[in-house]
Amino acid sequence: MKIAVLVKQVADTAAKIELQPDGSAVRLDEVQKVLNPYDEYAVEAAIQLKEQHGGEVAIVNVGPASADEAVKTALAMGCDRAMVLRDEAARGLDPAGVAAILAEMLAREEFDLVLCGKQAVDDDAHQVGPAVAERLDVPVVTFVTSLAVGDGTAVVGRDADGIKETLAVPLPAVFSCQKGLNEPRYPSLPGIMQAARKPKDVVTLADLGLNLAPRVARQGLSLPPPRAAGKVLAGEIPDQVKELVRLLRNEARAV
Ligand SMILES: Cc1cc2nc3c(=O)[nH]c(=O)nc-3n(C[C@H](O)[C@H](O)[C@H](O)COP(=O)(O)OP(=O)(O)OC[C@H]3O[C@@H](n4cnc5c(N)ncnc54)[C@H](O)[C@@H]3O)c2cc1C
Repeated sequence: MKIAVLVKQVADTAAKIELQPDGSAVRLDEVQKVLNPYDEYAVEAAIQLKEQHGGEVAIVNVGPASADEAVKTALAMGCDRAMVLRDEAARGLDPAGVAAILAEMLAREEFDLVLCGKQAVDDDAHQVGPAVAERLDVPVVTFVTSLAVGDGTAVVGRDADGIKETLAVPLPAVFSCQKGLNEPRYPSLPGIMQAARKPKDVVTLADLGLNLAPRVARQGLSLPPPRAAGKVLAGEIPDQVKELVRLLRNEARAV
């Protein structure tokens, strides 16, 4: 079985977010970066399928050179090879543009399955997986929490509002993965050492014959207003309770 996993490098969610002075983008230079957490579920699912059915797992990434670290993490977990686009002309593309690139890279080979995260935790667009499926003209199921592959078909489960939905899907198909699908493994020490030696194909937009422009233009970013400092009440407990009720009623208007 031939499986592709789409991975993105994102800022660690624990990192303090600061904007560029002109508000055009998040400052990422000094921020700790990680493999997108939802992509870890996709990587783990792909490795488990390879362990059950044989075959190979290719990591696919579009991003800056720093994204090589996220690719290396996925390879260290057990994926076999990487296909990456590195091209400054692709910087600033919207999810539709990134999906067009990914679909073109995937279309050059015949994959049985394409797995991705349900969303990238930085931009939260939830768009890339479905847009790739549309471009490849294959079925897509989002927010997958179980996945079993048989002869040319996959049976996938997804959690909807209070119900579990089970779907049969002919392959090839795209599935976006989320928490609950599995427990992603940690890269082992031998895995980390082998990762640097695994094959990595690097392509540019010119190699793919693509010339893309974003269809959605970001007008700006702004941080939410800072939260006001909390109030600490002093005095005897009965007096504090009275004051708390007064504040809730008169200031917070909660009761
Ligand atoms: C030179 C260059 C610089 C870039 N710099 C930045 C940057 O500073 N900040 C930033 O957020 N993005 C950057 N990108 C990536 C690109 O802008 C985003 O990937 C794109 O906007 C996708 O939107 P999203 O993150 O909301 O995806 P979503 O639709 O939320 O992602 C869903 C899933 O799609 C897959 N996916 C998403 N993006 C990629 C990708 N790039 N490669 C492979 N799989 C992917 C993942 O599996 C992810 O879980 C850069 C790209 C290039 C080429």
